Amino acid sequence: MPTKCCVPRCRSNYNTTTDGYVTVYSFPRDPDRREQWLRAIHRDNFQPGATSAVCIKHFSEEHIVREDRAVRSDGSVLILRREIPKLTDDAVPSKFPNQPSYMSSIYKQKCEGLQERRKEEETEDEDAFRKWVTDDVISDFNMFKSRIQNMKIDGFTVIINDMEVVFLKIDCTSEVPKIIVSLKINNELRIINISHNDIPISSSKLDWLLGSDKVMDKWSKFDTLLNHLKSYNIRSMSPNEKLELASNLLGSCCNEIDESFGIYSKVKFLKEQVSLLRTKAPKYSTDTLDWASLNYFSNPSAYRRLWSSKVLTIPHPEYLRQLSHSLSPESIHCDYLKHLSEKAKTLEDHEKVVNLILEETDVKSADKLQPASTVQAFVITSLLSNNKDIVRLFPGK
Ligand SMILES: [Zn+2]
Repeated sequence: MPTKCCVPRCRSNYNTTTDGYVTVYSFPRDPDRREQWLRAIHRDNFQPGATSAVCIKHFSEEHIVREDRAVRSDGSVLILRREIPKLTDDAVPSKFPNQPSYMSSIYKQKCEGLQERRKEEETEDEDAFRKWVTDDVISDFNMFKSRIQNMKIDGFTVIINDMEVVFLKIDCTSEVPKIIVSLKINNELRIINISHNDIPISSSKLDWLLGSDKVMDKWSKFDTLLNHLKSYNIRSMSPNEKLELASNLLGSCCNEIDESFGIYSKVKFLKEQVSLLRTKAPKYSTDTLDWASLNYFSNPSAYRRLWSSKVLTIPHPEYLRQLSHSLSPESIHCDYLKHLSEKAKTLEDHEKVVNLILEETDVKSADKLQPASTVQAFVITSLLSNNKDIVRLFPGK
């Protein structure tokens, strides 16, 4: 049964009324506020119980909250109408339509000015919103830089120079302090890098926040991004990410070592091995295919044993066999060169003047094992006719 209104002469939620259900509010728990309500409703010798309530009809509009507002990240305002209106914290019953007018009089004046004030408030709201939208814009790099200079950015160390602003979240708890998150914004306000534990975070992961242009053009965007990055920590690095880090380190090591240096090929091989650990469909480098083929043909059973030991990620012996079959000198003698020498007999002398060119093409997987993704083809073309023939194919990367 709905709670009845306890205000004298009010019939809200009584069975005899035809108004339907009226929203009611319990008395405040705070003793002072409770006293204010009691004084307002003018009910003699009345002490409100746990279920005593006052209906919405006795509150002025300024004390009734009928909708909730929230600002979205793009600055637009979301307005949600409340199914059940709530009261403001300072609400006191002030309207008593069934009681002498003097009981409402103290608020009457207020009510008359209410509409006008609401209009004023709406204009103020709109102005404030417009100002907020204008203030939210980051117009250029100098403005961004100078504001950042004067800002304390919680949890981040900031480095500012003419070319960029860098934000670093540093973990000092370990023996050697470590950069957990870095964010770099260049002088065109473009985000050029976001890394977590030295690994760049794929920009598509942050599309929801940054949009596709990756431009830091709003302060609200900046705040949200920094708050998001704050949540990253050093322990959230997965084994796969650690392998990626190791692969990146070995890669940069390769770039720094001279190729003539003894360890270069070893580091390069290790880098490839670490990268291959992270993929289910390995693609081998030409060097590894060469190395594996050489070992396979020198001693097939030793290669098979090495392959099945699973300590290295190397091409399947069967794949090497099939690959070599199609490229072996014998098959070339049988097919390509034989075909070419037959064809040469049919050519005019001027057509036998040829260019030897190297072409690289992408190939689709026709092999269930691990095929190369590109093929390098040596091709001869007649200078003075349309004749064109493949001499030999090599698997690429
Ligand atoms: Zn009432």
